[in-house]
Amino acid sequence: MGCTAADVVAALRAAAEVVREHRDELVRLDQAIGDGDHGENLKRGFTALLSRLDAEEPASPGKVLKLVATTLISTVGGAAGPLYGTAFLRASAAVGDAAELDCDAVARALQGALDGVVARGKAVVGDKTMVDALTPAVTAAASVDGSVAAVLSAAADAAAEGAESTVPMVARKGRASYLGERSAGHLDPGARSTALLLRAFADAAAK
Ligand code: ADP
Ligand code: MG
Ligand code: MG
Repeated sequence: MGCTAADVVAALRAAAEVVREHRDELVRLDQAIGDGDHGENLKRGFTALLSRLDAEEPASPGKVLKLVATTLISTVGGAAGPLYGTAFLRASAAVGDAAELDCDAVARALQGALDGVVARGKAVVGDKTMVDALTPAVTAAASVDGSVAAVLSAAADAAAEGAESTVPMVARKGRASYLGERSAGHLDPGARSTALLLRAFADAAAK
């Protein structure tokens, strides 16, 4: 069974709740190696998204993802706004006008999201960014042959591991890179938020 526009909206509402619950944690992570706004930036973006989803329900999964992109680009700010915005824009393009997303479409959407983040931010694995969570998630999603929920769950598990892998890294992109060696020993806030979003999507798809 595929994932309809309403399913994608439900997953985004669940993600907004997770962002709200983890706002303080993401702020603390960003206080350690950045400027302490990541949790608030994302909370602002997802709160704006909730009001837009209350006002209109886009007709296809791709249109929902496009609405996420434009909302996050215009409300999140900082480095993460354009990066997450581009991710959702490319995910939207990857799924096109399909009325339902199957597991292949979800894997393509994740690949598109990663390609967008990399095109925009030029980070590679090991730079201590959201790319360290998203890259293993894409690989895991492509290797699972099952339901949408199974694909997203594998992606979420891989993203969580990828996020943890950023702890010993020295940041080479974003604000944390200004700290040089002092950035080591801390979890990257963007990698953490990527893992949280994917877990929220996976849990919503399993319902
Ligand atoms: P800002 O650093 O502008 O305050 P945020 O705090 O919202 O923005 O987001 C910081 C996160 O953005 C970092 O933890 C990192 O994961 C991600 N990030 C920063 N620069 C890049 C980049 N060039 N490529 C990928 N991700 C990046
Ligand atoms: Mg910040
Ligand atoms: Mg900032």
